[in-house]
Amino acid sequence: GEYFAQPVQEPKDKLLGGLLPEGLDVNSCVSRYQSALYRKEQKHQPSSHLVSRLRKYEALHKQCGPFTESYNRSLEYLKSGSHSQYTNSTGCKYVIWTHPIHGLGNRILSLASAFLYALLTNRVLLVDPESEVPDLFCEPFEVSWLLPSDFPLIGNFSGFDKNSPQSFGTLLKNISRGSSNSSSLPPYIYLHLLHDYDDDNKRFFCNQDQPVVQNVTWLIAKSNVYFAPALFSVSTFQQEISSLFPDLGTVFHHLGRYLFHPTNFVWGLITTYYDTNLARADERIGIQIRVFEKDPELKLLDQIMACAAKENLLPLVNGTEPVASQSGKLKTKAVLIASLEYGYFKAMRSMYWKHSTVTGEVIEVHQPSHEKHQYNEKKMHNIKAWAEMYLLSLTDNLVTSADSTFGYVAHSLGGLKPWILYKPENHVAPDPPCRRAVSKEPCMHAPPYYDCITKQWTGPGAKLDPHVQHCDDKWYGIKFI
Ligand code: GDP
Repeated sequence: GEYFAQPVQEPKDKLLGGLLPEGLDVNSCVSRYQSALYRKEQKHQPSSHLVSRLRKYEALHKQCGPFTESYNRSLEYLKSGSHSQYTNSTGCKYVIWTHPIHGLGNRILSLASAFLYALLTNRVLLVDPESEVPDLFCEPFEVSWLLPSDFPLIGNFSGFDKNSPQSFGTLLKNISRGSSNSSSLPPYIYLHLLHDYDDDNKRFFCNQDQPVVQNVTWLIAKSNVYFAPALFSVSTFQQEISSLFPDLGTVFHHLGRYLFHPTNFVWGLITTYYDTNLARADERIGIQIRVFEKDPELKLLDQIMACAAKENLLPLVNGTEPVASQSGKLKTKAVLIASLEYGYFKAMRSMYWKHSTVTGEVIEVHQPSHEKHQYNEKKMHNIKAWAEMYLLSLTDNLVTSADSTFGYVAHSLGGLKPWILYKPENHVAPDPPCRRAVSKEPCMHAPPYYDCITKQWTGPGAKLDPHVQHCDDKWYGIKFI
């Protein structure tokens, strides 16, 4: 409201090639139709199949979403606690995304994966209202995606774990023992899709076990990983994912742009920062510095500069030479640093202030915040993190830190293949200092590596589908290519 009372400027392709629905309220979510003003020309168009599935999803969400008659009846069915006396005849099924206590990058990736699952199975996605979601993102649909706070099981979400009696894994165990049968299923099941899932819970990603959840009205999912690549191992999903995304390297790119629109407050932060610091530069370079080990000597800065010079992203500086006088306008590059630390920014800014560059380009260095520590549950902290992920996604070239879901969200949203800074091994800087990622997709940390036929853990050596590959920055992980 208060931030954008003036008429809103609208870009040419405000619907991002049909990805976004027309006709949603503009003022309550300015970023939705304005994002195209800040993004470079859209390189990846959504497939027509994806566009039509999204419109179908929106209609379903409108019919089944919170406080609709169908929702109320589905809720009654849940409250009845029955197994088979009542059936839910509304035709509405749900997947509720609950928030794990992990960083924002992890949560954004798991939420997008849950939406993909909803699309694939004609379920309605509802979001835990106690998560940070309402502070960060606009409502993506006409009817709210927030689970009403009087939902009966809401107080149990945080306690659900892989061994909970309500978990998918426990249900499968009971079915195989004969103490449950698949014709009388509970009204809800908890899906434990976190990195620590055991074999039974991993069976969610098995062809033969998916039918068990098919007719369960309420699924409650908790995950801290990007599980889209694991859904691809279910054969019916595989076909559909391939036709929704003929270029599998753009799954999150499209889902993220569809779902995650900064709220007006966050959009105010993003656009003000962008207009003030980045808009006028000839080129923008994002550098995301996630330090998992202490680095008091800022060794990582040498690695970053080596990477930037080798890949022609940023020029090196001339000893103490003054800037050679040049005719014409000097090219300006703006560097956007995102990091919890302040030291890298200070050192880099001072370096480009005190020295001229070998190419004569002018380098400006910016960093929106330096929060020092990670606080997953603080509102303003999460807002800054989201604003910075988004700002990084608006750059022309991006350097990210290995293993960081924060970086994955930034580059995938921007449709960028980042240069990844590898972690030093035994304190030795890696050579080369960085490598270009093979795809724009996020990496799934902790894939199941589970053979559904032999019911054995296969380990990361197992053969992968040709569309999936081990991650550039994490050999244990997998990603779409
Ligand atoms: P990951 O741990 O690198 O995979 O990324 P996550 O986003 O899951 O968790 C890291 C959390 O630390 C973020 O969500 C932020 O809360 C905080 N954080 C890490 N790096 C930055 C940064 O560059 N800027 C800001 N504002 N917060 C950061």
